Amino acid sequence: MQIAIAGAGVAGLASAILLARQGHEVTVFDHIADPTPVGAGILLQPTGQAVLQRLGLLEQVLTQAAPVHSLQGHTGAWHSLDLNYAAFSPHGPAPHGLGIHRASLHGILWQAALAQGVQLRLGVAVDQFSSTKEGVYLPAVASTFFDALIIANGTRSRLRESLPIKQSFRPYPWGAFWTVLDAEDWPFPTTLMQRYRGAHVMLGVLPTGRNPLTQKTCYSIFWSLPCAELPLYLAQGMTGLSDRIEAIWPEVAACLRASPHIELAMAQYADVRMQHWHHENILVIGDAAHAMSPQLGQGANMALVDAWHAAQCLARSSHVASAWADYSQKRAAHIRYYQMASRAMTPLYQSHYPVGFLRDLGTSLTRRIPTLHRQTLLTLSGAKQGWLDTRATVEALLA
Ligand SMILES: Cc1cc2nc3c(=O)[nH]c(=O)nc-3n(C[C@H](O)[C@H](O)[C@H](O)COP(=O)(O)OP(=O)(O)OC[C@H]3O[C@@H](n4cnc5c(N)ncnc54)[C@H](O)[C@@H]3O)c2cc1C
Repeated sequence: MQIAIAGAGVAGLASAILLARQGHEVTVFDHIADPTPVGAGILLQPTGQAVLQRLGLLEQVLTQAAPVHSLQGHTGAWHSLDLNYAAFSPHGPAPHGLGIHRASLHGILWQAALAQGVQLRLGVAVDQFSSTKEGVYLPAVASTFFDALIIANGTRSRLRESLPIKQSFRPYPWGAFWTVLDAEDWPFPTTLMQRYRGAHVMLGVLPTGRNPLTQKTCYSIFWSLPCAELPLYLAQGMTGLSDRIEAIWPEVAACLRASPHIELAMAQYADVRMQHWHHENILVIGDAAHAMSPQLGQGANMALVDAWHAAQCLARSSHVASAWADYSQKRAAHIRYYQMASRAMTPLYQSHYPVGFLRDLGTSLTRRIPTLHRQTLLTLSGAKQGWLDTRATVEALLA
């Protein structure tokens, strides 16, 4: 079968590797001309790690990533969030998360796709298609028909918008500044640390493993901000940012000041919802299908799980349209659960509502009530397929 994939991100590359392994002729198109991706740290959960293991790439990922054993959150002196992956270990392939630079993960997937014989065509923007009995036609690469098209071109996909599927796209009013800092002596090498003030201030430091540019141990720093304040932040530059951070975490501010030329980037998020993810021989996966706020750290993990199931469904059925319809059925519970959880949690971490106290009270209580603590960990691990899926496992999710 000839399969076209729009987007060479995590979702596109992982599905390309799996489908090429099944003997399909796979071509991945990306509008960027240079494959070196930008980005900061991604937190790989036990679900994402399990897919990488099935791809045969986990060993390689481990050489570039930092194990993240726990998530800790403080509001002033109040130690409100304390989640330790060890409590999840009986059900996961790894008792920890993995912090990895997006460029490292992307590089590993990229090399694996090339080794698997995937055709990678860069500098080709795929924004239109027409679907006929003969297959899917992409005007951007005229004269080629494909048996199937996978749309994996991220949150702002115009391909998704042109599908006759009920859908919504809602940009979040909050985003984040992020940067990657090299630091060999940071005191929390295996902990994702967050500091809050109410729901409107959040500073996070994620161990990010080896910096692919410098080969040094690095950390990603995330500073939450309302998108409306972006022009002010840009005008004030690094000095304005470090002054704000000084009041919350002086050590981080000192690290930033010690690297005045470091690149700062802005991330903006959106919520994407679709009634289902297939139309005839076209499938939508990854952020293009279900982008959400980053509070639950699931973006890359859900993209990997999507890729796994897309390949599994196609392996089970020689008829593309039925395979993709199966996919929508198979993925619905998991995707809907994380969309709901992410939507419910976001105002607690990024808003001007007076709810920071409730969040801290909730997380403090959660860690004292074993059942709640376990369900929170299961949610973090990426394995849950509904509020009532209290015995979720990674194996069940990928079955
Ligand atoms: C630049 C960038 C930086 C990111 N940084 C982080 C980060 O630091 N931390 C984090 O947790 N997550 C980050 N993410 C998000 C994270 O990578 C995704 O949530 C997750 O991996 C899901 O991946 P995806 O493959 O669905 O989408 P994406 O990673 O967004 O990949 C989509 C791909 O499609 C390509 N594309 C877009 N439009 C077209 C088009 N018209 N035609 C062809 N190709 C197209 C893009 O160039 C991109 O390579 C980043 C995403 C991007 C694009």
